[in-house]
Amino acid sequence: MAMKTTQKISDSNQFDVIVIGSGIGGLTVAAILSKLNHKKVLILEQHFIVGGFTQEFKRKGFRWDIGVQAVTEMAKGDIGRVVFDYITEGKLQWEKLPNLSDKLVYPDFTFEIYSNPQRNISDLIRMFPEEKASIKRYFSDLQKVTIWYKIHLIADFLPKWLQRLIKLCVGRLGKLARLTTKEYVERNFRNPYLKALLTSQWGAYGLPPSQISFGIHAVAMTSYGKGSWYPVGGSQAIVDCILPTIKKAGGMVLTQRHVTEIIVKNGVAKGVKAKKTHNAKAEVEAYYASVVISDAGAFKTYTELLPEGYATAYRNQITAFPKGYSMLFLFLGLKESPEKLGFGTQNYWIFNTYNHDQALQEQLAAPDKIINSCMLSFPSLKNHTVGRSTAEIIIYADYNYFARWQGQPWRKRDPDYYKLKEKLAQKIINFVENYYPGFKDLIEYYELATPLTVEYFVASDKGSTYGTASVPERFDQKWINAKTPIKNLYLTGTDALVHGIVGATIGGVMTAGIINGLFGFFKVMFAIIFPISNSKKEI
Ligand SMILES: Cc1cc2nc3c(=O)[nH]c(=O)nc-3n(C[C@H](O)[C@H](O)[C@H](O)COP(=O)(O)OP(=O)(O)OC[C@H]3O[C@@H](n4cnc5c(N)ncnc54)[C@H](O)[C@@H]3O)c2cc1C
Repeated sequence: MAMKTTQKISDSNQFDVIVIGSGIGGLTVAAILSKLNHKKVLILEQHFIVGGFTQEFKRKGFRWDIGVQAVTEMAKGDIGRVVFDYITEGKLQWEKLPNLSDKLVYPDFTFEIYSNPQRNISDLIRMFPEEKASIKRYFSDLQKVTIWYKIHLIADFLPKWLQRLIKLCVGRLGKLARLTTKEYVERNFRNPYLKALLTSQWGAYGLPPSQISFGIHAVAMTSYGKGSWYPVGGSQAIVDCILPTIKKAGGMVLTQRHVTEIIVKNGVAKGVKAKKTHNAKAEVEAYYASVVISDAGAFKTYTELLPEGYATAYRNQITAFPKGYSMLFLFLGLKESPEKLGFGTQNYWIFNTYNHDQALQEQLAAPDKIINSCMLSFPSLKNHTVGRSTAEIIIYADYNYFARWQGQPWRKRDPDYYKLKEKLAQKIINFVENYYPGFKDLIEYYELATPLTVEYFVASDKGSTYGTASVPERFDQKWINAKTPIKNLYLTGTDALVHGIVGATIGGVMTAGIINGLFGFFKVMFAIIFPISNSKKEI
């Protein structure tokens, strides 16, 4: 529904570029266009904190981040690192995390994962010697499919005839990438424990083995194998180091501005309308720019922000596309360092069964009765500036389970919502306590966030956490792209490319590339890699 506004175009609401949402994808494209093209960028963020999933929050002297456990591709010279060095002007430092990156904790064994594929291969072969050949083939397939994925992306920027030729050459790997991970492991392995082990980290991309494409599984696993880093100063440092780059070119961020509509005239994006989230009576504001970029995800952009009648085919396809899941986040403030119980910087994936798909469905249906798995991590062991010790537990959950309290104000929902939250928090704590006796005694403070909290703070569709679901069909959707059918409107972040800090960041680079015209991606990458040659580029 189009809303009326009376505001006229003036210097105060006219910008070169408007970015909807301040997630890492939005911040990246804003910083590149500010630095490379000297554009005055306005970022409109609906929340009162900047950063989307890269935001931090504080309670009672404890500090947690939300969507940053470990970031890959951050060695000097890696793609993620060169982009971050560019957009932060080298200000953001990264600390390499220990090689022991993950612990997979099952009822009758534990398996450690290292950022060292050779070691993981040997450990798996020692445990499952009868599957040696398949294990070796699996790791080789992960590499090949990751290369396919990169070629598949770059091909988009090449002439059509070359695209067709390239796709023909790597077609076999494309077929492998379009299997689900469950299909891949069912075809290649016999031992159910091994099948479970290899798919244990499904929580890191948000879909269980029967739904996630083997392609995205491969990209994730391959990047973890190269090591993980953590931003020095925590996720807040990411935001703090990028914003000056945007401000230097005259840009700014306005928080508590919920964009309600993209203004389109004659098929061309001209600006946006936004509501102040902290003042229901305030007039709708209008902001204008010759480029509008959305970091709000494909679903919201096409189905809610674009006026009806535009991009109808995309809108219909997105509405029918499978949805991702949401989560419960249990944020814990600890009395003492978790090292006391032997915990470290790694992620702990804890399971009470080996069938991830079935376990998830049971948990989604009744989380207050059944918890089958969780991911436990300790932000304070990675962020030395955080002060007091913290832990964070993540559990997959169904938005619909909480839908009856939808629309009620944050912190003022019905008492039975808070009763349920308390029950869930206790259930989750007891689940971990079962595996790590003494854990409960470490806890001084806890707070549970539900899918409604996620929806409130990052405005994602039904509190989903990883953007458009990475099912195999995602590879073939034209709307998973920085380009849109509306002139001067672009997508960025996760849905311009793929989930993850680096995925959404490169999504930002892709958007800046397309805005920079023919071979723009290569121009932008050149400027990022060789910043010295960085003169103003007209767009
Ligand atoms: C629990 C969890 C753990 C994770 N851990 C890791 C990890 O360890 N490593 C890693 O690489 N990745 C991790 N990720 C993934 C990563 O955090 C995300 O993929 C990435 O941050 C997404 O960035 P984005 O820019 O696409 O979008 P988002 O961060 O979702 O930002 C979108 C922004 O747009 C705003 N917005 C939406 N609609 C509107 C509107 N209408 N008007 C104004 N503003 C709007 C939102 O408020 C939000 O700020 C994790 C994610 C989760 C959920």
